[in-house]
Amino acid sequence: MKMNIEERFIAYCRIDTQSDPANSDVTPSTQKQFDLAEVLRKELIELGLENVELDEHCYVYGWLPSNTNHEVPTVGFIAHMDTAPDYTGTGVNPRVIACYDGKDIELNPDVIMKVEDFPDLPALKGKRLIVTDGNTLLGGDDKAGIACIMDALQYYQLHPEVKHGRIAVCFTPDEEIGNGPKYFDIEKFGAEFAYTMDGGNIEEVSDETFNAASAKLTFHGFSIHPGSGKDKLINAASLACQYQTLLPQYMTPEHTSGREGFIHLIGIEASSASAVSEYIIRDHDRTKLQEKKDLMKAAVDYLNVQYGQGTVEIEIQDSYHNMKEVLDAHPQSVETAYRALKELGIEGVSDPIRGGTDGAELSLRGLPCPNLGNGDRNCHGRYEYCVVEEMQLAAELIKKIVALIEEA
Ligand SMILES: [Zn+2]
Repeated sequence: MKMNIEERFIAYCRIDTQSDPANSDVTPSTQKQFDLAEVLRKELIELGLENVELDEHCYVYGWLPSNTNHEVPTVGFIAHMDTAPDYTGTGVNPRVIACYDGKDIELNPDVIMKVEDFPDLPALKGKRLIVTDGNTLLGGDDKAGIACIMDALQYYQLHPEVKHGRIAVCFTPDEEIGNGPKYFDIEKFGAEFAYTMDGGNIEEVSDETFNAASAKLTFHGFSIHPGSGKDKLINAASLACQYQTLLPQYMTPEHTSGREGFIHLIGIEASSASAVSEYIIRDHDRTKLQEKKDLMKAAVDYLNVQYGQGTVEIEIQDSYHNMKEVLDAHPQSVETAYRALKELGIEGVSDPIRGGTDGAELSLRGLPCPNLGNGDRNCHGRYEYCVVEEMQLAAELIKKIVALIEEA
């Protein structure tokens, strides 16, 4: 059945696929993700893909065979099916605004999306938007990505004369709880490089992520009855507070942006006898990440000199690395994306992600995988909306990338 990209997108949004961090040791974390996976499995078969498979962990794979007579690398396109745990995805009721007037948008009588809160809105005057009814998220993250990929595949079905190499497709579960790549079979996928269609603005090419580490600090107090504690008592809870004040106060998520890294206190559990503080450390630059780790260790040494060796202990663990190192070594993926954007009349911009992506982990595991835009905005909440024209451009971008690879 032929469908346009908007119909597809809205149909996917209506299916509840919220993932659940409380059940993250199981993949998929919620069985309802299979509801969408089953729809997508059938659509891939209808669109003429081969060996279409929905596996036990809720990954949907399919391959469009090459129809060109020369050797070209297999390219992959990936999108995730789950929606964020942050906001409900039950009963999503998308509404189309056919020609946006650039003003405040009433999602329902109680929920207004105001231009003063979302200053990017007026620039979209005249565009076709899909918004929520103010009670749920939209799910354009990442169902807009799925819709773009499906739309491109439909194009090849309707235009068998258009030459293309082999195209690998995978829809993944549980991206929002960090488990998207967990059971992703890179070898089976068989692509030389791939793209996650999981970004926002269409001009953005995300080829950089943070380098990430975490730190756990343990503070050992010296417990003594407070009535006789003079010059003896060491209060672990106070030490944990003092430690936080030793770190640069500007180097936090609330005071940094762009390529600036941070040290972020995510929690303290403390009594006067003992305390544990947990931090995450982030920086796009590996050297600067190391400097942040060193700074945290220096603050530990400072306290240990004051209160005695072993009073404070620090354990630092690396979580993930910036995918740029991999992508720089395999430049074809990023270069092709920029060329394709240019041919569509769009000047691509590098968007250093202040977080990780599934593509970052896949890149480090051997599948170079930058992230591209899909037209979705304000994800993970009720103000989420999707720009239909940009979603259409993202489908064009996929076709252009495939064409450039075929011509090479
Ligand atoms: Zn996403």
